[in-house]
Amino acid sequence: MGGRGSGRPAAYPSRPTAENSLPLDIRHLHRSGVLAPGRACRWQWTVNGRIRGSIEIHADFSQVELIYTFTGHQRPAEDIRQAVLLERTPCALGGHRPWFRCPACARRVAVIYGAGRLFACRLCKGLPYASQGETQDDRAARRADRIRKQLGWMPGILNEPGVKPRGMHWRTFRRLVGEHDAWVAMALAGMSRRLGLMHGMLADIRDRMHPS
Ligand SMILES: [Zn+2]
Repeated sequence: MGGRGSGRPAAYPSRPTAENSLPLDIRHLHRSGVLAPGRACRWQWTVNGRIRGSIEIHADFSQVELIYTFTGHQRPAEDIRQAVLLERTPCALGGHRPWFRCPACARRVAVIYGAGRLFACRLCKGLPYASQGETQDDRAARRADRIRKQLGWMPGILNEPGVKPRGMHWRTFRRLVGEHDAWVAMALAGMSRRLGLMHGMLADIRDRMHPS
């Protein structure tokens, strides 16, 4: 505590950034089984072991409902139920990948943020990244995009994969898809690393926490 460089008073509110604004990452939810239709569970964010936020998530096939109490500046606490649409895109070599539809702009995004009263994407919330390292992620995303162009796929790493171009050998296609997926994974990993400053986790899996 109070080490070199930590000059900010504890009570001073920190600048809102993507990292400290309750990021809800659909890949974490998916991996944790939270998106199974009919499932209801509690998700919470901790920083250094202290709980910073907590919501209930009720999953349906086509949407999740986020249920929480919002306490604004000098306002009474408000119970909120926000529905966020889900979308699933096929992966080039099989399987599906889930996404959020940002409730504000309808863009397909992997992460929405709880900065303020309702959840929305980083751009809608106007949240900058606090940490460096974007250039490396951007480079990975650009390389993936270059391969997408070569394959005649729609640009943008969050868009769906396309099909094999006519006349291209399957072996070449598989190699390019493999390279593309690796660059995409690198770009997304960079994003996750930045989000890793704040940990989100499932809070109420009792059968795992208290094995009988
Ligand atoms: Zn948005």
